[in-house]
Amino acid sequence: MASALGERLAAVDRAIADAARHAGRDPRELTRIVVTKFHPAELVRELAALGVRDVGENRHQEAAAKAAELAGLGLNWHFIGQLQSNKAKAVRGYAHAVHSVDRVGLADALAGRTPLEVFLELNLTGDPARGGVDPSGLEPLAEHVLSTEGLVLRGVMAVAPLGEEPRAAFERVRAASQELQLLAPDATAISAGMSGDFREAILEGATHLRIGTAITGKRPTPG
Ligand SMILES: *Cc1c(COP(=O)(O)O)cnc(C)c1O
Repeated sequence: MASALGERLAAVDRAIADAARHAGRDPRELTRIVVTKFHPAELVRELAALGVRDVGENRHQEAAAKAAELAGLGLNWHFIGQLQSNKAKAVRGYAHAVHSVDRVGLADALAGRTPLEVFLELNLTGDPARGGVDPSGLEPLAEHVLSTEGLVLRGVMAVAPLGEEPRAAFERVRAASQELQLLAPDATAISAGMSGDFREAILEGATHLRIGTAITGKRPTPG
C-alpha cells in the first residue's frame, strides 16, 4: 500500500509533468528537489526509498547532521538558505549545490579544489535586507564566480515575492537568466518554483523546482 508521503510525491510529480507538457517542455529536463527542512532524517530516508535523489535544506547545522546520518544513500544535498561566509567551507563538505550565492565574499568562501554547483540568488523584492543580489548586480557577481576556483555556475535562483503575481516575478527571473547566459552560456539553469507556484515557474523556464510542504506535509516548528 502506498504511503501518504508516496502519494503526495506522485501527485506532485504528475502535476509537474502536466505543467511541463502545458508549457511545451519535456518533464525530464526538470529537477524536482524535495525541501526537507525542519523534518527529521527519517523522513528523508523514506523519500530516498521512494526514489528521491535531490533534497533541499536551508540551515547548515541541520543539513550537516542529516547529510552525515544519511551518507551512503546517494542523495544530492542542495543548500537553499541564506549562508554566512564562515560556514561556507563546512557546507561545501556535503553539498552538491548552493542555490543562494548572493555576494562576492560568499563566492570566495565557497572556493575549493573540487567542483561545487552554484546558483546566483536574485532579490526580486527591492528590499536590500532580503537575501539575494539585486538584478543590477548579477553581472559582476557572475564574472566573479566564473573566475573562482571550484565553482560551477549553473544559473539563477529566486523566490517569488509575496504580493506579486508569481508568473510576473518569474518572467523577471527568466529575463535575468537570459542576460546571464550572454556572459556564461552554460549557466542555463533556473531554480524557481515552490509548492504554491511551481506551475508558473515551469511556464517561465524553471529547471530546478524546490518543493517542500506539497510533498512532505506541514513542517514541524523549527527547533
Ligand atoms: C522552504 C523553502 C522552499 C519550499 O517551500 P514550500 O512552500 O514548502 O514548497 C523553497 N525554497 C526555499 C528557498 C525555501 O526556503
